[in-house]
Amino acid sequence: KRMRGATDLEKHLELLVVENERLKQELKACKTSLLQEALREEVSRWESQTRPRQRRLAELEQQVLEKASRVETLSRQLEESKRHAGEMQRQLEESKCQQGEVEQQLSIRLRDCEEEMARQAARPHQVKYVTEIVEVESSGSQQAVAEAQAKSAALQEQLSLQRQLLRELETQLHESQRTSTQLRAQILVYEGEMERAQGQLEAEMQNLEEEKNRVIEDAFIRAESEMKAVHENLAGVRMNLLTLQPALRTLTCDYNCLKRQVQDFPFMLEKAMTEAKQEICQVIGEVSSANQELLRKYKREMNLRKKCHNELVRLKGNIRVFCRVRPVCRGEHDSAENMVSFDPDDDALLYLSNKGKLMTFELDKVFHPQATQEGVFQEVQSLVTSCIDGFNVCIFAYGQTGSGKTYTMEGVAKDPGINQRALRLLFSEVTEKAPDWDFKITVSMVEIYNETLRNLLGDNQGEKLDIKMNPDGSGQLYVPGLTEFTVQSPEDINRVFELGHMNRATACTNLNEHSSRSHALLIITVAGVNSSTGHRTQGKLNLVDLAGSERIAKSGAEGSRLREAQCINKSLSALGDVINALRSRHSHVPFRNSRLTYLLSDSLSGDSKTLMMVQVSPLVCNMSESVCSLKFAQRVRTIELGNATRRQWENSSTTSSPTHDSKLRPILHLHITTF
Ligand code: ADP
Ligand code: MG
Repeated sequence: KRMRGATDLEKHLELLVVENERLKQELKACKTSLLQEALREEVSRWESQTRPRQRRLAELEQQVLEKASRVETLSRQLEESKRHAGEMQRQLEESKCQQGEVEQQLSIRLRDCEEEMARQAARPHQVKYVTEIVEVESSGSQQAVAEAQAKSAALQEQLSLQRQLLRELETQLHESQRTSTQLRAQILVYEGEMERAQGQLEAEMQNLEEEKNRVIEDAFIRAESEMKAVHENLAGVRMNLLTLQPALRTLTCDYNCLKRQVQDFPFMLEKAMTEAKQEICQVIGEVSSANQELLRKYKREMNLRKKCHNELVRLKGNIRVFCRVRPVCRGEHDSAENMVSFDPDDDALLYLSNKGKLMTFELDKVFHPQATQEGVFQEVQSLVTSCIDGFNVCIFAYGQTGSGKTYTMEGVAKDPGINQRALRLLFSEVTEKAPDWDFKITVSMVEIYNETLRNLLGDNQGEKLDIKMNPDGSGQLYVPGLTEFTVQSPEDINRVFELGHMNRATACTNLNEHSSRSHALLIITVAGVNSSTGHRTQGKLNLVDLAGSERIAKSGAEGSRLREAQCINKSLSALGDVINALRSRHSHVPFRNSRLTYLLSDSLSGDSKTLMMVQVSPLVCNMSESVCSLKFAQRVRTIELGNATRRQWENSSTTSSPTHDSKLRPILHLHITTF
């Protein structure tokens, strides 16, 4: 317990340390991720907010640029207009100047002309005179006058020309003046427009400036508030950190405490271990002494049990007789119920009503027609297992053909009989004893037909076997050439049965008929060695399906049929004689009178156990044979062999218990004689 406690503590400590480490890591990761996250968020928000503003600013700039270019164009146009106006002015001035000059010239000419004319006018008398003179002088003056007149006309013409020119110039001047005023008005319009544009531009610029300032201010305010939030977050994280620190401190404290405990633990453990070891050693000592005591008691009890068992067997008798009444089979029409009846209180009684007379038969056990194979075997199994203890056992199925002998011994595939169940039981029993005992189970199958032995498991079916005395001087019988199969598993059993069945079937044309005329023996030998004591035991279980016991009318049988009947009669009556001799304590028991009794002599005599299963058919037509079988059964039941003793040999011992008729123990308990 202490060990487990310390281990738990250690585990807990380890868990806490790991948890502590994990928490630290987590905290660190948390902090960095929180800061990074906040900054990243801030930057992205800032960016997302500034982006539309920047866009707007760019647009405004674009607009300003457009306006400026427009202003420039306008001012260029204005300049052009101004230049144009200047040009016009200059032209006008020039024209004016030219006009003035022309006017001046013309006025000079006019004045000259007027002077000339005045002069001419001032000289009319003269002119008369002159005329007279002219008339006098004539031609020279006249010519001069003509010349002057021509000259005057030319001048007049020139004057009109000049006047016309002047008029033209005047109109031109007017035109120019009008154009100039127009241009001036246009300039004024342009200037106004320019001023307006400039004003607009300025206002726009102002607006833009204001908007820019406002946006910047907004962004700044937001950034400030966000910064504040981040700061608050940071403060929260710091707070968390502060609260976690005490937890960490307690954890560290716990850890240190556990560490100390862990350091102390090996010493505690060692101490506890040594204490536990001492306790365990003490307990082991106690247990082993108790064990010894128990073993001693167990051995004593076992001996007692054996004694009791033997006593029980002795009391029950070594020959037991059971009766099994088979059911009425399908297709058999018979009022069977009235012929065979059972006692409801005593399972050893059977009643037969024969020709109005009620016959009572007392046996060791009567099986109803409804009895199952399993139920029958349960009554037989103690006998079967006793061969493991070294007893020789014979189980016979006796009865007329069709009374159910083969069904009881072999059974059917779905519901096996005593043969297979016995072998399976022996296997399981032997396996249970396995560590202490080493058992070997061998199986032989023999058929006795017309007093000849046939090896059913052999290769050569034509070979006839003989029964001989063992040359080792043990007095035991043996069958030279008899095949013995060592079986190790239920699968082996199946194979052996299959082989035996096949060999029996191949030798005859009608198996049913043949089997009813012959005895079939399954001989199972169980030999064991106790690995610790060296004890050896050997038991033999003989399971015999006897030939049909029906009597054959001598007149109706001849040839081989007669021989068969004689042989069967011989062997069955030999069986009866042997039992009779045993019962009557005859010094001579006629085992040799038949092959069957001779082969089974060591399993019938002395300490052997015998079970006779008398099969009875319930049919009315079989009544007389049923009566015969039951009479035989009662006769057999009154025999008791000597005290059953276990056949066993010590390892070193060379003596063997009696197995032969001549060495038969003379102690026979005889009861009623109703042969
Ligand atoms: P036998 O070997 O004595 O000649 P069988 O064992 O061949 O007799 O039995 C004769 C018939 O009766 C068979 O068909 C068998 O299946 C049937 N039979 C015998 N005993 C029983 C039983 N207890 N339950 C059912 N059928 C049985
Ligand atoms: Mg049969």
